[in-house]
Amino acid sequence: MSIRREYDVPLASLSTFRMGGTAREVAVVETEEDLQELFAILPSDRKWFILGGGSNVVFPDGDTDTLIIRIAIPGIRVLTQTEDDVTIAVGAGVSWDSVVSFAVDRGLAGIEALSWIPGTAGATPVQNVGAYGVEIKDVLVSLRAYDIQKGEYVVFRNTECLFGYRESIFKNVGKGRYVITEITLVLSTDGPNVPQYPGVAEYLAAHDIRAASLEDIRNAIITIRSKKLPDPSQIASVGSFFKNAFVPVEIAAKLKATYPTLAVFPVDGTLSKIGTGSLIDTLGWKGKRIGNLSLYAGNAMVVVNEGGATRRELAEFISLIQIEVQKKYGIAIEPEPELLDF
Ligand SMILES: Cc1cc2nc3c(=O)[nH]c(=O)nc-3n(C[C@H](O)[C@H](O)[C@H](O)COP(=O)(O)OP(=O)(O)OC[C@H]3O[C@@H](n4cnc5c(N)ncnc54)[C@H](O)[C@@H]3O)c2cc1C
Repeated sequence: MSIRREYDVPLASLSTFRMGGTAREVAVVETEEDLQELFAILPSDRKWFILGGGSNVVFPDGDTDTLIIRIAIPGIRVLTQTEDDVTIAVGAGVSWDSVVSFAVDRGLAGIEALSWIPGTAGATPVQNVGAYGVEIKDVLVSLRAYDIQKGEYVVFRNTECLFGYRESIFKNVGKGRYVITEITLVLSTDGPNVPQYPGVAEYLAAHDIRAASLEDIRNAIITIRSKKLPDPSQIASVGSFFKNAFVPVEIAAKLKATYPTLAVFPVDGTLSKIGTGSLIDTLGWKGKRIGNLSLYAGNAMVVVNEGGATRRELAEFISLIQIEVQKKYGIAIEPEPELLDF
């Protein structure tokens, strides 16, 4: 067994929100065999938590005996190749953006719109990561996971992951049962689908690009994201702190008539999506700082830990925003990251 053990690790160093006390022990796992063996010898009363890149979790303030199991399984392999598509298997610990870069460099389409999302490949199915009209569910064929209850590896096909908006089985009934070790993606050789977003169109026009390549789309997305989202290496955040809101179409239409700046998108005949950033935008919170927390000046969805923020401060900060949104629009907005208490 070649598990790396680290002791007394500040939780702040393990998450992009840089909050939390100290983890007494962190186990870094690089192979499926090691993961299985780790669970085989773990006392049944020992608490544990599976961590990828820590870009969608907020840790608690206190010190913890919970074993942090950091998944660092490497490797990208080409499984099959036809004229139309290429199937790749990616180790759960591979940084997601390096998977996008791997695909774009080889002319493989499907994930270029998911450029520059922090974190690991293995975490992407957990909240069905998405951006610019693409979600991981659109390209995921299957994944391998360790079933802790059964003590064996299992395969989930796409439909078995029960994907929804920022949802999957791994966040719900399967939470605490499965550890994802490998994802399999099918990518197309057909060239890019240009995301239908004004920012992308503006970038392409500004660069005089008529037939965008995969690399053009990746560059466009990186440019747009770097304006709207803080760089996690410089500013502590988890990206969007709130999920977008889904409301009945009639309510969305009424709100749009009253507040024309709201970003309302049709979903189906019954529901519309409202960009939560546009709900918060009108409340004057952008750039506002209270104590050690602020709302990012460039994006009303992003809560920033200015340094030393506590969970209590965070709870108060987000509930102030939630209450104001509820009062003005009658919409309950929910946090996107996992707020951990262990
Ligand atoms: C600047 C910024 C921008 C972002 N932009 C986006 C965006 O555009 N779209 C989007 O969807 N998200 C976005 N995010 C959120 C985040 O990057 C994604 O959710 C990412 O997939 C989390 O990966 P991670 O490895 O950091 O997961 P972690 O934060 O480590 O974990 C997240 C959850 O997944 C579980 N998990 C992690 N790895 C595994 C595994 N191998 N098996 C089982 N469970 C696992 C954890 O237990 C936890 O519950 C952004 C975050 C930041 C900081």
